[in-house]
Amino acid sequence: MTEEEKKIEGIKEMNFCPTCNSVVETVIVYSYTSENTVNEDLCGYVTEVLLSKCLKCQNLFLKEKSFQIVEGDDYLNSKIQFLPNTENEAIENCPEIVYNPYEETLKCYRAHAYDACAMMCHKGIEAISIDKREIKGNLTTKLKNLNSKGILGNTL
Ligand SMILES: [Zn+2]
Repeated sequence: MTEEEKKIEGIKEMNFCPTCNSVVETVIVYSYTSENTVNEDLCGYVTEVLLSKCLKCQNLFLKEKSFQIVEGDDYLNSKIQFLPNTENEAIENCPEIVYNPYEETLKCYRAHAYDACAMMCHKGIEAISIDKREIKGNLTTKLKNLNSKGILGNTL
């Protein structure tokens, strides 16, 4: 372990923990820093991989940070969080009529407004029904019709 790695481990930072559903204090438990590709002008790139844990629920976080080095100073180029995965690729490609209630649902959930969250889930499922041209009757009827058309599986 290099001196650089020793300094990073044990550092605490704030992160959104989906298990705790709040911004929590996390601590870096392991770090890896790529070999410096700095040239004689002190310019180059370095990649840092950090494994940290939530101090509340022990949930793990895995992040990669890429830095560009210009004249000895490092600038954050990109930051990717691999774990926990808070991005939902499927929802990003769905129609806007479904995406908007989903976004609102997430906001309500993260604000601990669970009644509002349930209402937004209802609105989202209604939006999926409309998108699939199922507009007659109440939500139960729509879901049953979507199931009989083979659009919705039996689990729902
Ligand atoms: Zn947590």
